[in-house]
Amino acid sequence: MEQTFVLVKPDGVQRGLIGEVIARLERRGLKLVGAKFLHVSRKLAEEHYAVHKGKPFYEGLINYITSAPVMAMVWEGPNAVAVVRQTMGATRPYEAAPGTIRHDFGLTVSRNLTHASDSVENAIAEITLWFKPEELVSWGRDTDRWIFESN
Ligand code: UDP
Repeated sequence: MEQTFVLVKPDGVQRGLIGEVIARLERRGLKLVGAKFLHVSRKLAEEHYAVHKGKPFYEGLINYITSAPVMAMVWEGPNAVAVVRQTMGATRPYEAAPGTIRHDFGLTVSRNLTHASDSVENAIAEITLWFKPEELVSWGRDTDRWIFESN
C-alpha cells in the first residue's frame, strides 16, 4: 500500500486549517499512519527542500517553513501520492483547481498551506527524513473494504 508525506505548513497551522486538511484527506478515504506537530529546525528545512537550494525563493521558503509550527503526517492508501497531490492542488494557488485546498484557502505560491510528496520515490525519502520507523502506526481499518477493493 502506498504512503505519502504531508505537511500543513505554518500558514495552515496559524489559520486553524489543520483539521480542514485532515478532514479532507480522511473523507477521501486515505488512512492516517503517522503525525507529529513540531517547530521545524533550519537543518531539517534545508534537508527537506535541498532540491530548491540556490533558487530565488529558497531563503524565503526556509524562513517560512521554520517560522512557526507545522503538522507533519503520513497518509496511506491506493495511489496515495497522486491522490494527495490532487487534493492539495497546483503549487500556485491561483492555478489550483476549485475544490482543492490550495484553491479554496490560498492566493499566492509563497503561502500555499501544504506540502505533499510529488513521487513515490520522494515520499519514501521524506517519510524517512521526518519519521522514525517506530513513529508510524500499522493499523487495520474496518471500513477499508468499503473504500477500495482488496484481495
Ligand atoms: N515556492 C515559492 N515560490 C516559487 C516556487 C515555490 O515560494 O516560485 C515554494 C512553495 O511553498 C512550494 C515550495 O516552494 O510549495 C516547493 O516548491 P515545489 O515546486 O516543489 O512545489 P510543491 O511540490 O510544494 O507543489
